Amino acid sequence: MKVDLRSDTVTQPTAGMREAMLASPLGDDVYGDDPGVNALQDKIAAMLGFEAALFMPSGTQSNFCAILAHCQRGDEYIVGQMAHCYRWEGGGAAVMGSVQPQPLNHQSDGTLLLGEIESAIKPDDAHYARTRLLALENTFGGKLIPYAYVEQATELARRKGLSRHLDGARLFNAAVAQAQMVSDKPVAAGPPQADGGGNVLVEARRIVQCFDSVSVCFSKGLGAPVGSALCGSRDYLARAHRIRKMAGGGMRQAGLLAAAASYALDHHVARLAQDHVLARRLADGLSGISAVAVEPPQTNIEFVDLLGAARDRAAELLPYLAAHGVLASGLYRLRFVTHLDVDAAGIDHTLSVIHDFFAA
Ligand SMILES: *Cc1c(COP(=O)(O)O)cnc(C)c1O
Repeated sequence: MKVDLRSDTVTQPTAGMREAMLASPLGDDVYGDDPGVNALQDKIAAMLGFEAALFMPSGTQSNFCAILAHCQRGDEYIVGQMAHCYRWEGGGAAVMGSVQPQPLNHQSDGTLLLGEIESAIKPDDAHYARTRLLALENTFGGKLIPYAYVEQATELARRKGLSRHLDGARLFNAAVAQAQMVSDKPVAAGPPQADGGGNVLVEARRIVQCFDSVSVCFSKGLGAPVGSALCGSRDYLARAHRIRKMAGGGMRQAGLLAAAASYALDHHVARLAQDHVLARRLADGLSGISAVAVEPPQTNIEFVDLLGAARDRAAELLPYLAAHGVLASGLYRLRFVTHLDVDAAGIDHTLSVIHDFFAA
C-alpha cells in the first residue's frame, strides 16, 4: 500500500477532472479569450464576492503579484515570521519587487499580536520604509485563524491605512473548519443556505470580506494539478496582471488547467471535511504512543513531535515509513497531510507502521 502524506499537493487529477480538462474549449489567455480561464475567474470571484479574479500558475506567483500590486518599491509589508509569503517564497517580494518584509513572531494559535502589528507600523519619516500592507495566512500551518482575530487585525490595518492581503492557499479548509464550528450539521458547499449555518461558502466569504485581496490555491486540497487565483477589485487586478506578465505568468491555452480548477470548485470543496476527519483519525491513533506528542489537528495537517529517546531515532523514522509505503516529511517534528488520494485504510496502514516502529 502506498500512502503519500507529504502534502496535499501530490494528488492526481480524478477521472472526472481529466474529462473536464479534455472537454474544455480553448483560446489564448494572453489575448484574454480563453473561455475556460475567463469562466474560472468569474466563478471564483463570484463565489468569494470579489469584483474579479486572475488565474495564476502557482500560489507563490499569486502572492508575489499580490504584494507588488499593493506596494511600491521602498514600501514594506507586515507578515508572520513563518508565513509562506515571507519565509517560503525565496524572498521574491524583496528580491524582485524591492518591497521589504517586516516579519513578526506568531502566537501559538498562528496569530500576530495586535499590539506588535500596531507598533510595527512606521511613522512617515525618511528613516523608515513606508508600511503599506498587512499579509495574513489562513489556514496557517493547518490552523484555522480565529475569525474574531481576523476581524480585529484587518480592522486595525484598515484604520491605519494599510491594505490587507490574505494568503488563502487553504482558504476552503479554513472555511470548512469554521463552518463546523458554527453548526453541528454536516457542512454544505452549495449556494448559501437561508439559515446561514454550517455553510462553507458563507464562511469563506465571511473570512475574505475582511481583505482587499485573497490568493486561493487549486492545487492543494482542492486537487487540481496546477493553479491559484488572486481575487480583488478590477483596478487592483489590472496592476497584478501587469506584474504577472513581468513574472512570466501569462499562459496561453490555460483553459486546460482552468477546467481542472473549475471542476475542483464544483466537486472538491465540501469533501475537504473528509480530509479533516482523516487527520483526526491519524492523531487519535497516535495519541497512545508515549514517544510522541500529538497536536489535535484543526484541518488536514497533523504535526507530531518526537519526544525523549525517540529523538535519537528520528533519522530512521521517515526511511522506515517509506520502506512500508508511507511518505511524510519532517524530522523531530513530523508533518502528515491528508487529501483526496488518502482514505481511511491508508491512515490505518500508516498507524500500524508507526506503531510497529515504536514497538521495535
Ligand atoms: C502552497 C502554499 C503557497 C504557494 O503555493 P505554490 O503553488 O506551491 O507556489 C502559498 N501559501 C501557502 C500558505 C501555501 O501552503
